[in-house]
Amino acid sequence: MTVAPKILVADDDQALSRTLSWILKENGYDVFTAPGGEHLFEHLTAEQFDLLLLDIMMPKVDGLQLLQRVKADPRFKDLPVLMISSMPPEEATVRSLGLGAADFIPKPFRVRELLARVKAHLRVGRELNQARAEARSRSEMMDIMQEVTASLKPEEIYGILVRRVAQGLSISRCSIIMANPGDESGTVVAAFENPMLHNLQVDLKRYPEIRRALSTGETVLVRDVQTDPLYRGVREEWVAEGRPVETRSAVALRFSLRQQPVGVFFLRTTTEDAPLNEHDVQFAEEVIIAAVAALERAYDLENAVLGQEQMRHLAETDPLTNCFNRRALMEKLEQEMDRAARYATMLTCMMVDIDNFKQINDTYGHLVGDRVLKQLANLLKREQRSVDIVARYGGEEFVVLLPETTNAESRNFAERILRRVSTHDFGEQGRPVRVTISAGIASYPDERVSDGESLLRLADTHLYRAKSDGRNRFRD
Ligand code: GH3
Ligand code: MG
Ligand code: MG
Repeated sequence: MTVAPKILVADDDQALSRTLSWILKENGYDVFTAPGGEHLFEHLTAEQFDLLLLDIMMPKVDGLQLLQRVKADPRFKDLPVLMISSMPPEEATVRSLGLGAADFIPKPFRVRELLARVKAHLRVGRELNQARAEARSRSEMMDIMQEVTASLKPEEIYGILVRRVAQGLSISRCSIIMANPGDESGTVVAAFENPMLHNLQVDLKRYPEIRRALSTGETVLVRDVQTDPLYRGVREEWVAEGRPVETRSAVALRFSLRQQPVGVFFLRTTTEDAPLNEHDVQFAEEVIIAAVAALERAYDLENAVLGQEQMRHLAETDPLTNCFNRRALMEKLEQEMDRAARYATMLTCMMVDIDNFKQINDTYGHLVGDRVLKQLANLLKREQRSVDIVARYGGEEFVVLLPETTNAESRNFAERILRRVSTHDFGEQGRPVRVTISAGIASYPDERVSDGESLLRLADTHLYRAKSDGRNRFRD
């Protein structure tokens, strides 16, 4: 099912507005009007539009000023705006395009041309939004995984999952409930709406979607609890008890550990939030799939009797690359800063970021991408002296800490690494992948550096310069 694109028409000419609406509706669009451009922002906030048709000259408001305000608002800056006017085309086009309009349509307009332009801009807008959403969700996923894999305790992981999913979807309620198929009650192990809550028993009779998800294994999406047949019995109880209902929509998603169903991920929106849809379900499913491995590892650890030494090692390493993880890096960084201050020695921090890594993933696939990350980590570790620290800072970013290094030494180090990387065959046997990196170097003491965080920040600024100066280089 495709939803008709929503178009808002803001024009003071009633006859024209009516004709436009009619033509657009005939062509399958969902059309709304804001006569005279008044209350434009109220309309824009109330509905999510795909396109705005805006008249330049209206008696009460100036169309160009409105355009400027729309484009200045971060909520609407990606909304394509088509300006309509009987102003001399040259002047109006130049001015409106300069202010961020997507296109300009002179009055009187030709219907075919108008429709063609509307269609073209809708397509561009959609593709842009889709690309953005995908990029956002991918980097968000990586970020969540990083946080999840850094934790070794199941309770901590559950807490991270409910928080990240609730924040990622902007919903106020998200919890994890442990129960077996057929159970009448479950145990809440984490709830975003109540972080202090632990092991609360809940009666599942009130949650038909949870029972259904548990017993069928299918993800259950209830768009509106007021109308969904699944909720009929519960609704009758609400009425009988005279209880106000805050929930609007809900999703229950079963998850398994070691192939055994153990509980559900439960998302809800209140009447104030937007209702949940398939995209939200997809995001939650991806998070859960990715988190299951981390959860299994955490439970294995709980069961295994590991030595303190082994536990510590696991807690501070990144599982993919076996480098220190970000949490361990931050600890080491503070220790090294203290040491450098106390003994008046230099500490250098080098931040490394793979160039165009997205393209490597896109060309060779994510598995090869992962492999490149491992290989780069090994290469960095091979170059280090026994006192140096190599950590995975983020997705494709690494940090190397070099204690007691002079500026000249750290430059030599950076040059050597850059050369080794650019000449190394990454990837699989017989299908080499060429990789370059950029690096930013910062050293303490420096007047811009007061603690570990500012040292990292300075290295990051220099890394950014290396990128904008053309990549495959370092800056300090
Ligand atoms: P730039 O030269 O500006 O650094 O470009 P880039 O493509 O490297 O930078 P960008 O930050 O746009 O993309 C980084 C990509 O790294 C996006 C993300 O999908 C990928 N990535 C992050 N973590 C992982 C991971 O663990 N495995 C794989 N395969 N890819 C990852
Ligand atoms: Mg990066
Ligand atoms: Mg990169």
